Amino acid sequence: MVTPRLCNAMSVDVEEWFQVQAFAEVIERRQWSALESRVAASTDRVLESFARADVRATFFILGWVAERHPELVLRIAAAGHEVASHGYGHDRVDAIGEAAFRRDIRRAKTILEGITGTPVLGYRAPTFSISAAETPWAHRILREEGHLYSSSIFPIHHDTYGSAETSVVPYWPAPDGVMELPMTILRVHGRNLPCSGGGWFRLMPYWLFRLGLRRVNAVHGREGIFYFHPWEVDPDQPRVVNAGMRAGFRHYVGQRSMARRMERLLGDFAWGRMDALHAATLAAA
Ligand SMILES: [Zn+2]
Repeated sequence: MVTPRLCNAMSVDVEEWFQVQAFAEVIERRQWSALESRVAASTDRVLESFARADVRATFFILGWVAERHPELVLRIAAAGHEVASHGYGHDRVDAIGEAAFRRDIRRAKTILEGITGTPVLGYRAPTFSISAAETPWAHRILREEGHLYSSSIFPIHHDTYGSAETSVVPYWPAPDGVMELPMTILRVHGRNLPCSGGGWFRLMPYWLFRLGLRRVNAVHGREGIFYFHPWEVDPDQPRVVNAGMRAGFRHYVGQRSMARRMERLLGDFAWGRMDALHAATLAAA
């Protein structure tokens, strides 16, 4: 008997190479407009890979980027992908507070829907900066602003984000809020290990990651969520030299081989859009 392959969710956080937590200390927001924009070209490469592999994905697009590249948003939608929100200004949710969070997600949703004419259902917080302890109001506000799901919580211990004690399967953190689709972890010897992408994916041997995701699918019977950024497949981006060893390493490690790893990943698993994978639950919401 052939076991049907679980369909995993593929997602892309669309932002510029300089809009990352790793560089937040050294690149000021007011400099953004003056820096070289590379997001359209690198996202187009991602779109080409997805087209070759016949994969449809969810793109969490930053409002700031969408405003400057509406034609890119249209290309993403025209290729059959889900357009979702990464907020407007890439501020950490746990740093800006309730009122600014509401303004930020409303602004992003308005821009994205203005471009595509299609409702935006999904949201991913910058740097996974939502947690029950720090931002208990976030899921309710997302709902009030017309979203249906969030994919913003990483159930791991990490120095800049994560809450290891939260659910590892879809759940509702607040009764009047949106559904949370937490990032994928693998439980090994009582610890939650990340199995979702990011720097870990570029750092560890590909076969080890594949083994992990297969375990999530086959042993735990759960679908996984993978995420990456267009800047991860852009090894020729300008080098930020004063970000510090740790931040620099995290940002640049494995970028040269990332495109090749992605191609393998696309072929080794079944992938789909987040809204399509959870269509029944979202329709009932
Ligand atoms: Zn981001």
